[in-house]
Amino acid sequence: MSASLGFDNLMENVVETGICSGCGACVIVCPFKNILKYSNERPVLVGECKNCSICLKVCPRNNIQDDELEELIFGRRKTSDDLFGIFKKIYVSRSMDEKILKKGQDGGVASTILTSALNSGLIDGAIVSGVDPFTPWLPTPLVVKCREEIIGNAGTRYTYSSNIIALKKAVNDGLKKIAFVGTPCQILAIRRMQKNNLKKFTRPIVFTIGLFCSESFSYQGLMIEKIQKGLSIDLNDVVKMNIKGRMLVYLRNGHVVKIPLKEVRKYVQQKCSYCNDFSAELADISLGGIGLNKMTLTIVRTDKGQEVFNQVISNDYLEFEPLEKFDNSLKLLKRLSLIKQKKRKNVT
Ligand SMILES: Cc1cc2nc3c(=O)[nH]c(=O)nc-3n(C[C@H](O)[C@H](O)[C@H](O)COP(=O)(O)OP(=O)(O)OC[C@H]3O[C@@H](n4cnc5c(N)ncnc54)[C@H](O)[C@@H]3O)c2cc1C
Ligand code: SF4
Ligand code: SF4
Ligand code: SF4
Repeated sequence: MSASLGFDNLMENVVETGICSGCGACVIVCPFKNILKYSNERPVLVGECKNCSICLKVCPRNNIQDDELEELIFGRRKTSDDLFGIFKKIYVSRSMDEKILKKGQDGGVASTILTSALNSGLIDGAIVSGVDPFTPWLPTPLVVKCREEIIGNAGTRYTYSSNIIALKKAVNDGLKKIAFVGTPCQILAIRRMQKNNLKKFTRPIVFTIGLFCSESFSYQGLMIEKIQKGLSIDLNDVVKMNIKGRMLVYLRNGHVVKIPLKEVRKYVQQKCSYCNDFSAELADISLGGIGLNKMTLTIVRTDKGQEVFNQVISNDYLEFEPLEKFDNSLKLLKRLSLIKQKKRKNVT
């Protein structure tokens, strides 16, 4: 890539074409102060761009040929057999911690891995998604440094949370050993940051957890138009949401409102139709609830991921079911990965 490319090119190729995922990577890596800010899930130029091209190199939506990322991470490139990416081992597991299981989205495995890593001193904090204190269900990037904060922010918000923005805060707060939790688009941005040797942000990252992701929804559309206005549900009364064939909205009074997926499709973010990664293929560990009930399908992909997960296993923080019982989940994983790879709109 030419060294003279700048924010204009990112604007033209990614942001204006509507394919920006809103990950925030460009904003934190810009080496010059007060040039980019993050607003309305996109970068905004507020200073004079120096055309260093770093933002273009990390952007997960900038069409860079970077198969060598797989070589960097796994020591080999993906083949047509690696339908959902390269991996070492797959588990079906759930947390043994009642609090985590209750608050967790599926088996609470993400939060269990984080608490285990924190207990053992492997990390001193993690980047997750929290909720805006004044706006119910509005996700917000967050740095967590203790078990209570990890558990308090477990569960899934199906609208976009630019977790990478919190990486800057974590580094500025002096965290030296960080776990990063995020969607596949964010994991790709982190990997591109690693490939481009942006050590300030990548050296502290000990491991990454990628969340399976078919799509994310717009907050205004799903939470305000559909749930708050359309169904007259006070968002403060929603205790959990999940997607299992239908969108399930769990209320404080114990009721579960079931919404057919076709009724929420129109609130899917357009930017997600350009995304070809369902299962966070470049993460150290990838997690999803695919076809499971209160269990998490756990794909350990790298040596680092295996080392982290082995520690969780040896501490008896998780219980397991035999993978053979969940053939349908694996079939679904393959099917959804293929659908996403084929559906990807051509953005060249
Ligand atoms: C937008 C989105 C779409 C998803 N789509 C699918 C899907 O199609 N199929 C599937 O099987 N799984 C999907 N998942 C993953 C699934 O919802 C669970 O996150 C995963 O199974 C792990 O569950 P857990 O109980 O182990 O995690 P938990 O222990 O509950 O931890 C979940 C972690 O995710 C973080 N988080 C919550 N919301 C967000 C967000 N918006 N962005 C980034 N991080 C967040 C939390 O802070 C927490 O650290 C999706 C997740 C997201 C965020
Ligand atoms: S990273 Fe470089 S190219 Fe991008 S906005 Fe900042 S100065 Fe411009
Ligand atoms: S780096 Fe992320 S936020 Fe910036 S333009 Fe690319 S996708 Fe959008
Ligand atoms: S589908 Fe998920 S991973 Fe892909 S751009 Fe949308 S939020 Fe990011």
